[in-house]
Amino acid sequence: MRKKIVAGNWKMNTLPAEGVALAQEVVAKRGEVCECVNFIVCPPFTHLAQVAEALKGSTVELGAQNCAAEAKGAYTGEVAASMIAALGCKYVILGHSERRQYYGETSETLNKKMEQAYANGLTPIYCVGENLEEREAGNHFAVCKAQIEEVVFNLTEEQFKNLVIAYEPVWAIGTGKTATAEQAQEIHAYIREVLASKFGAAAQECPILYGGSCKPSNAAEIFAKEDVDGGLIGGAALKAEDFIAIGKGFMA
Ligand code: PEP
Repeated sequence: MRKKIVAGNWKMNTLPAEGVALAQEVVAKRGEVCECVNFIVCPPFTHLAQVAEALKGSTVELGAQNCAAEAKGAYTGEVAASMIAALGCKYVILGHSERRQYYGETSETLNKKMEQAYANGLTPIYCVGENLEEREAGNHFAVCKAQIEEVVFNLTEEQFKNLVIAYEPVWAIGTGKTATAEQAQEIHAYIREVLASKFGAAAQECPILYGGSCKPSNAAEIFAKEDVDGGLIGGAALKAEDFIAIGKGFMA
């Protein structure tokens, strides 16, 4: 049985007090959904510590949205994986399309970030996905395959056991356009096949999340697909009610 996960990527939203209030609301509503669904919130770095405090005693877990490629030292403005781990993070989102697109993150950088994450006991949520042009040209399979081969294939078998993948078509992120459940299943199954070509049976255990305008109204249909193990949620994660309602998609 693969882990079912609903992870909220808050991006650059919420001030500390707002983030704490949102986390408290998620904690308060979490009981409405089966314990078999794992909820993760990923606030900005600035209030990880306060949100960690708000999550204490609950089963809602904490993640960060990024980490540095280096362990420590003269890297002004960067935040090390050891720092976010010390604040209570269990997860770190890596390779989000916004980081690839706006901050020039390459596979080379991401390999280093993955190493840092594992060295500090964090589970990476590694994002892959094609843009609209690539989808329209029918290149989405090749793009996802390359993003996996160039980074995930460098992991050891042990590391791979502690990995979450998020498939996020760039054309669906924050656009209100969602991949159909069939499109999601098709590429999730393909991603699992690519993972199996390197890691064998362990690929069956790797959670693959869908991300891209996932909301309460479409979560159940997408999560019902065999190879979809949950969602990485942006906009809808900023409202506790919607975030939790997405988790209920597993119970529909
Ligand atoms: C995301 O950026 O990870 C995401 C899925 O965003 P949204 O849900 O807002 O499309």
